[in-house]
Amino acid sequence: MIWYPYQQMKTMGAPYEIVDAEGVYLYTKEGKMIDSVSSWWSVIHGYKHPELNQAIIDQVNRFSHVMLGGLTHQPVQRLSQKLEEFLPGDLNYCFFSDSGSVAVEVALKMALQYCMNRGEHGRTMILALEHAYHGDTFKTMEAGDDEDYHFVLNAYGPSQYVVHIPTEVQALEQAFARHGHQLNCLLVEPLLQGAGGMRMYDISFLKRARELCDQYGVLLIFDEVATGLGRTGNRFVADLVLPDILVLGKALTGGYIGHAVTVANQRVFEAFYDDDPGHALMHGPTFMGNALACAAALKSIELFERQDYMSKIRRIEAVTRREMAGFSHPRVREVRIMGGCVCVEVLHPDDLRGYQQFAYQRGVFSRPFLNCMYAMVPYVIPEEALIQVLDTMKAWFAGRG
Ligand SMILES: *Cc1c(COP(=O)(O)O)cnc(C)c1O
Repeated sequence: MIWYPYQQMKTMGAPYEIVDAEGVYLYTKEGKMIDSVSSWWSVIHGYKHPELNQAIIDQVNRFSHVMLGGLTHQPVQRLSQKLEEFLPGDLNYCFFSDSGSVAVEVALKMALQYCMNRGEHGRTMILALEHAYHGDTFKTMEAGDDEDYHFVLNAYGPSQYVVHIPTEVQALEQAFARHGHQLNCLLVEPLLQGAGGMRMYDISFLKRARELCDQYGVLLIFDEVATGLGRTGNRFVADLVLPDILVLGKALTGGYIGHAVTVANQRVFEAFYDDDPGHALMHGPTFMGNALACAAALKSIELFERQDYMSKIRRIEAVTRREMAGFSHPRVREVRIMGGCVCVEVLHPDDLRGYQQFAYQRGVFSRPFLNCMYAMVPYVIPEEALIQVLDTMKAWFAGRG
């Protein structure tokens, strides 16, 4: 039996069975629907993309996987080289892993050991944001802040190692004044907090965070697993404020194969680079640098650049702003738009009950959560399809008290 994610198995409805997929469309036996979620925000080029398919097929015909322990290969070499030039600043040292959660774990381990390797043993704490989501493994749950996902952690009581603050400069300054010398890192989803409720905040917070991190000798980690590769309307938020460690996942392979990367800057790498074997990073996921994933990621980045995806994302944002202009409803608290993300936050989660089925009947796949109805569409979406997604969102509220 399949144990499905984030669901009470006893009461969940039957999932839609997908038999084919192409472009922005998912096909069931009954018909087709636009994937307004991009399969958890990853399928940025749409489904069955001919060039991505071919890149993987070509690699399958050589080899699909070899381990990186004691072995290396062209796809992983080319991808790390590509990331070096594609990413801002001196974010040049790529540690690959198989999922976003693991890549965040690696970033947190790097930050802790960075301090230990430098003899700063008192820096055991992490500063993180309220409503943060960084994955479902144990340390990422601890760094996250959402009861709805991680209430199992209540078994341990409050964490001694993580402090959560709101995205306000004053709270940030207070946290540094209080804990600055015990922190090894500040971990954030920059500008857009995804799974914690599609919350958007201002770049000024991150600029101040960068200053304080420098002042107190704390590493700044951007979890761009969701925001990376264009979602906020920036290629990376790291283009605006440079972190010490950057984490990418989800869209990295165009949503074809689970893979992620933790990218460190020179300063972090140098704290490990030493004659002392005890200063090495002791981590190694079995499938890190998987050759098929690397081939997909390389092709994905090539498409992103060659076909000017940033202009596609700007167009998605412009159409979304135009179509949502003036929309309001007594049940709606706020409409938020940033780049390729739109969220309609309702007053109560019950206001979204039945929406998934409503959208399905109108040819749209949607998956509301908490009190968020949202769309994060594939960047290749034609304008009519995007309008269909947005009209469906608005239509739900028509005639409701
Ligand atoms: C999805 C997500 C993760 C976890 O990635 P997985 O591949 O599901 O483990 C981590 N951080 C952020 C910001 C995410 O959105």
